[in-house]
This record gives sequence, structure tokens and C-alpha cells, in this order.
Amino acid sequence: VQNQDLKIQATTDGLTGLANRASFDLFAAQAFQKAAAGGTPLSLLMLDVDKFKKINDQYGHPAGDQVLRALGKLVKTAARPQDLSARYGGEEMALILPGTTRATAAAIAESIRRAIAAKPVVSGTNAIAVTASIGVASFEPGLPFQQFAQIIKAADLALYAAKHGGRNCVKVFSLPKPAGKNAA
Ligand code: GH3
Ligand code: MG
Ligand code: MG
Repeated sequence: VQNQDLKIQATTDGLTGLANRASFDLFAAQAFQKAAAGGTPLSLLMLDVDKFKKINDQYGHPAGDQVLRALGKLVKTAARPQDLSARYGGEEMALILPGTTRATAAAIAESIRRAIAAKPVVSGTNAIAVTASIGVASFEPGLPFQQFAQIIKAADLALYAAKHGGRNCVKVFSLPKPAGKNAA
């Protein structure tokens, strides 16, 4: 193999063609530094396939792999040139959106969610209905993130809320409102 091919192998997830975890971590650190230094927004989407274990159980592992490949393509398509789309873990994908506000990130997340839900993955004679839940968190003025790891934590919390909110939905992290005198 050529040098260029080795480089691609080292930075890419073999199944989905998305950036792998190592490139995600590197890109995240650099993007966060830029955002913090420039006072520009930065958003993160964390996507987790809904009831994916059931898809594997029902259609088999190779079909599950096919679902991940199809979703990877969708997420990659949603990424703009400045963004990074990555496979974060097993059936979790992430999108880092530099310069992108929370509102725009939420809209992008919603369009990805809708695209996934709208298009069953064809595997042999099966059309597999797939949905995903997405958590969004952003680095913006007023939000106390000092490290990218805190944004990941916040996106995870939002993702958890999306799962508990019935799945196939997008939740955006926001700070709990301070309890005032008139709070219930
Ligand atoms: P939830 O809606 O709560 O996310 O449920 P879930 O079933 O998606 O979550 P759970 O964490 O129980 O299951 C994730 C499954 O993803 C289990 C694991 O076998 C499967 N998985 C992880 N990586 C791969 C992969 O590369 N290929 C396939 N086919 N399955 C994978
Ligand atoms: Mg998961
Ligand atoms: Mg899942």
C-alpha cells in the first residue's frame, strides 16, 4: 500500500468510512481550542441508533453492519466541509460542527434524524426501518465549557434525554434554570 492509503486507514473507520475515534479526538481538541480562542461557537451532535441490538437479533449482524454503513453515508452527507463526521463507538456516530450555533446544530440534527427515519435500509429482501436519537451540545457564550470533554458529557446527557423521551428525537443540552423565588 501507498503512504497515502496508510494515512487514510489510520484515520478512518473501516466499516462506515467515517473518521475514526482517534481522528475525532484530534479534531475535537483543535476545534475547541480555536473556538475558545476566537470566541466562536462550536457544536457537537451525538447520534445513537435506536434499539440496534434488536436489529442485529432480528436480521443478523451483517445486516446490522449494512445499517451502520447506510447511516454513516447519511451522516457524512450532512457534514459540511468544515465539519467532522466520525464513528464514535459501536453504533454511535458524532458530528463536530465548528462555527455553528446551537440553533443551527439542532436544525441539522433534526434533518439527519428525519432522513434516517424516512429511508429504510434495504438488506437482501428486507427493508429495515431504522431510527436514531441525537443529543446536541454547543460551546457558546454563557455556557461554561472549559474542555471539549464537557461538551461530550453535555451531548451525552441530551442523548440520554432523547432516549428517555421516546427515541427517534433530538434533544439539545441546556443548563438547568436557576431556581428563583417564583420557581415552582
Ligand atoms: P438503545 O435504543 O437504548 O440505544 O438500544 P440499543 O439496542 O441500540 O443499545 P444497546 O447498547 O443495548 O445495543 C447496541 C448494539 O450495537 C449491541 C452491539 O452488538 C451492536 N453493535 C455495536 N457495534 C456493532 C457493529 O459494528 N456491527 C453490528 N452489526 N452491531 C454492532
Ligand atoms: Mg449505544
Ligand atoms: Mg443504540
